[in-house]
Amino acid sequence: MKALRNEYTEILYKGSKTAKSIIDPDCPPIYHSSACEVADMDDYDFANGGGKYFYNRTAAPNRDMLADTVSYMEGGEDSIITSSGMAAISTVLLSLLSYGDRVLCSDAVYGETIELMNNMLTRFGIAVDYADFTDIESVRSAVRPETKMLYTEIISNPLIRVIDIDAVTEIARENGAMTVVDSTFTTPFAIKPLEHGADIVIHSMTKFFGGHSDITAGSVTASKKIIQSINPSYLLLGGCLDANSSWLALRSIRTMRLRVEKQMENADRLAKALAEDTRVKYVNYPSLEYHPQHELAKRLFKNGFGPMLSFRVEDDREKVNEFIHRLDMIKYLGTLGGFRTSLAHPATAFRNEFSEEQLRKMGMEEGLIRISAGIEESEDIIGDIKNALEVFGKE
Ligand code: PLP
Repeated sequence: MKALRNEYTEILYKGSKTAKSIIDPDCPPIYHSSACEVADMDDYDFANGGGKYFYNRTAAPNRDMLADTVSYMEGGEDSIITSSGMAAISTVLLSLLSYGDRVLCSDAVYGETIELMNNMLTRFGIAVDYADFTDIESVRSAVRPETKMLYTEIISNPLIRVIDIDAVTEIARENGAMTVVDSTFTTPFAIKPLEHGADIVIHSMTKFFGGHSDITAGSVTASKKIIQSINPSYLLLGGCLDANSSWLALRSIRTMRLRVEKQMENADRLAKALAEDTRVKYVNYPSLEYHPQHELAKRLFKNGFGPMLSFRVEDDREKVNEFIHRLDMIKYLGTLGGFRTSLAHPATAFRNEFSEEQLRKMGMEEGLIRISAGIEESEDIIGDIKNALEVFGKE
């Protein structure tokens, strides 16, 4: 028999269970609970061995549902879901590289990935080499006997160059190294890197997977064996995603194909319209015939050439700022991949890290503008940009 309890104690226990059973709700519940009850010590051993959920950081239902879906989308066996794209990248690098190893990294990956490589990996005795991954011979000649990993993105930021991932993974295989691909800009609807020989594919799910600028998340997908080797460090580093964001990411995935295909179509239309505009010096988008990797992009990409493009106008800071002010719909955001078209100004994003001269060498002139295409009607995006381009004169 239950002993009589103080009413304040009772409040702590009331309402913990549903009055009726809930069977097969059409949308999965959000399991906020950070722990599940363990029956006894034998049950703890069972849970700790992966038999059931008992502690959120170790394993959690909403994360697992999301992991299962991302694995399927990327054609991988298993995934780890992290609290950001950077958590995915740092978890992979810190779990798979050791003192004395080298990583060969594309010189055109996300700026903070480069900072992580330069400022953190090197502190642990891991050497980082860089190569221009659009030049396969420079990749081949940069591989050293200690190179354990080749790290790249497939569409580079912000110049939208395309990397021959088949050639990169072949070089890695020949040299006994693994290939890690950050496919945030491409998404599985344009390319599935594991099908091209990559060992690991990473996403910042903050971008196209989330698609609504309302979550920060990341993923790592690979074979079961690789994920098992990353998992112990992932648990210790602790960058796991919360239930709410996991749930939101899975919900966003349900409409991701519709969004991303439309975003790629809009990027293509916008690129073609801008390429014909006399106020635009050039457009970086792989569907354009003058793009240096146009043929490669046609071979690699399904369904479209990606949702990201950049273009260059006059290198005049005042006028570029005025161009941004004049845009009515398109917003300047520190992110990308949302359902609405947004822009970024790469030179401003990297002004603290690089000198003017370095920025110019990297192709980040004052007039370079990067666009993440949204799902609006393409003529509205084109109209908004053309209106604002009046700052640079009449067409
Ligand atoms: N990878 C790429 C290509 C990115 O563009 C970003 C962020 O912009 C990241 C990784 C980092 O993702 P997060 O901001 O979710 O940590």
